[in-house]
Amino acid sequence: MLAGKIALVTGASRGIGSAIAKTLAGYGATVVINYNGSKERAEAVAAEIAAAGGSAMVYQADVSKEEEAAAMFADVIKQYGRLDILVNNAGITRDNLILKMTTEDFDAVIDTNLKGVFQCMKLVSKQMLKQKAGRIINISSISGVIGNAGQANYCAAKAGVIGMTKALARELGSRGITVNAVAPGFIVTDMTDKLPDAVKESMAAQIPLKRFGEVEDIAETVAFLASEKAAYITGQTIQVDGGMGM
Ligand code: NAP
Repeated sequence: MLAGKIALVTGASRGIGSAIAKTLAGYGATVVINYNGSKERAEAVAAEIAAAGGSAMVYQADVSKEEEAAAMFADVIKQYGRLDILVNNAGITRDNLILKMTTEDFDAVIDTNLKGVFQCMKLVSKQMLKQKAGRIINISSISGVIGNAGQANYCAAKAGVIGMTKALARELGSRGITVNAVAPGFIVTDMTDKLPDAVKESMAAQIPLKRFGEVEDIAETVAFLASEKAAYITGQTIQVDGGMGM
């Protein structure tokens, strides 16, 4: 489905990003596994892809830092000569109720989850406009659609990602580039593992499918949006949330 395509997945050392990298590689794409701090885990993802007969490389860059993101895109495009698929997945949480949320916590989440996505979309757009083709898929969150107490920073960033997705879909559509978002619900990863059990139980009760999602649920949706099968879909936010946010 993605043979010959070059894909870059940000934050692919763990969780949803690592599943996206493995799934895209499984469909034939060559995958760049971006990570920030988890070098060994990123290398393990690349090794798993190679063992399955796929092709991958790892690249360390903090996507919230403009120079690091710029160097990554320049190096990747130099190495492969093109970049067909960008998945903006890297994300962090710094949850707290508004009265306790510090400006540092607000800024940190905006810098990675919103500004990082802006920078990566800007950097890849130049190349995709030249190619007159490309797929950008942004990982938002159901929290950016319906809100979530204790996540003012995260909800602002993830709602912002949905807005930027629509703006870029309009800007780039005439050049054969599609831009979509995926809004996961509650997916089992390190990010959600740290929530208290009581919060997990109350969240599960609100999900019509009565269970948390798996990373593969998100990865398969991303692979579809990255493929030719989704050629006429742009500017959309697909909620993969067990019905939580309808
Ligand atoms: P996770 O398990 O905590 O993994 C986060 C990934 O992002 C790691 O690979 C981490 O890399 C990377 N990362 C963080 N900051 C980065 C930076 N500045 N530059 C580059 N990479 C960075 O999170 P997850 O649950 O898989 O979430 C992935 C995405 O899905 C996030 O955008 C998250 O907001 C979104 N999401 C998750 C859920 C959920 O229920 N899990 C729900 C909705 C949306 P290192 O470890 O190398 O630092």
